[in-house]
Amino acid sequence: MASSTTPPRRTISPVRDYMVMNAGRMSCRAANCTWRDVVRNATRAKDHLLRCVWALERFPEIPTRLRSAPNRQSPSSSPGHDLVLP
Ligand SMILES: [Zn+2]
Repeated sequence: MASSTTPPRRTISPVRDYMVMNAGRMSCRAANCTWRDVVRNATRAKDHLLRCVWALERFPEIPTRLRSAPNRQSPSSSPGHDLVLP
């Protein structure tokens, strides 16, 4: 009996759900957005999605999903940043 083989799991960035991938390039899925045909770069895409009003309007779960994703090589994230009160 042939047992079904499970395909190797890849770590797919949630960013991909909101981007249209196209031969080394990607574009924002939000219809009104002009951010398209840019070089594939997950960090750039994520950065864009967190600012894109059109994408955030259409996919309000973006900030939650992207921020909860495992994020390596993010030098500028410091969760416990202290606020200086006057
Ligand atoms: Zn966009």
